[in-house]
Amino acid sequence: MPDTNEPQRLADAKACMIETRVWIDDTFGPFDAKVDPTNRWNGWLSPFFTLDTVRELSARTQEMADEFGHDAIDTVHAIDGGADREGEPRAVVVHIRWSHLGSESESSTSIIQPNDEGLYGIGCWEWTWHFARWQCACGLVMYWHVTDCRNCDLTRDTQPDKTDTAHKAPTAKKPTVPDTDQPQLLADAEDPLIDAWVHIDTLGPYEAKIDRTKRWKGLVRPRFALDTVRKIAARTQEQADKNNYESVETIHVIDGGTDREGNPRAVVLHVRWVYVEDEEEAQYATLVMQPDDEGLYSIGGEEWNWYEAAPDTDNRT
Ligand SMILES: [Zn+2]
Repeated sequence: MPDTNEPQRLADAKACMIETRVWIDDTFGPFDAKVDPTNRWNGWLSPFFTLDTVRELSARTQEMADEFGHDAIDTVHAIDGGADREGEPRAVVVHIRWSHLGSESESSTSIIQPNDEGLYGIGCWEWTWHFARWQCACGLVMYWHVTDCRNCDLTRDTQPDKTDTAHKAPTAKKPTVPDTDQPQLLADAEDPLIDAWVHIDTLGPYEAKIDRTKRWKGLVRPRFALDTVRKIAARTQEQADKNNYESVETIHVIDGGTDREGNPRAVVLHVRWVYVEDEEEAQYATLVMQPDDEGLYSIGGEEWNWYEAAPDTDNRT
């Protein structure tokens, strides 16, 4: 479903940029980036990078194209041109979509202009960028920019054992994965979704579709049918009532009759109450969840710790 907010988002983008790390999956990234968390394309992010990070990312795309073939991997190139009058490095950044080369479309090669801050948007509204994550020693997984654990007193930078969360230099890791686990550097790549049951400690299990190849530390990113979203919504609201909405996130389904084909019309909202009162974060406290092409909703995205439930799980909802 196209997001019609694009021009407005681009205009507002600078106002709501946060510093974080992004990846496509853990074989491509993490890379330091600036991101407007509300600027989403089918749920994916549009990150901006410094020239140094572009070089890092560029090397990785070329390494992966060598490994998987240029038909499967777009490459990014930073072409150096000495220094400008202020002594800043001068460079041209190019994005090549090899699979489009020679086709009728003109979209095979793009020159990427830096924004006002000198940052380059790579794969914006095109690649499946998402926030990189770190796992606390207590087990909870959070987005990179959430530096304090929500579960214990530790922070991202005061972990007893940092080997698990350290920034892996992308060039240091050779992909040892099968073809099906390639990062989706092509806009038209499809997820191989399968049926599964998923749960969080206090939620579920619920029926969902997951991509088993996109697991991270056992976590999955499920998508749900609207009827299941209703069950999740009811449960989150029940829990919020008990907890006075503090530090609780709720899902809401607002019904709007049926569309021309007789399908139910609904808007799904995800409210992070802890941000609602926060001056800076309030603007992305409420997420409007767009369904994917199959009408499925990614509830909690990667921020919620969804696990696949064991096949013999009881009490299925
Ligand atoms: Zn913790």
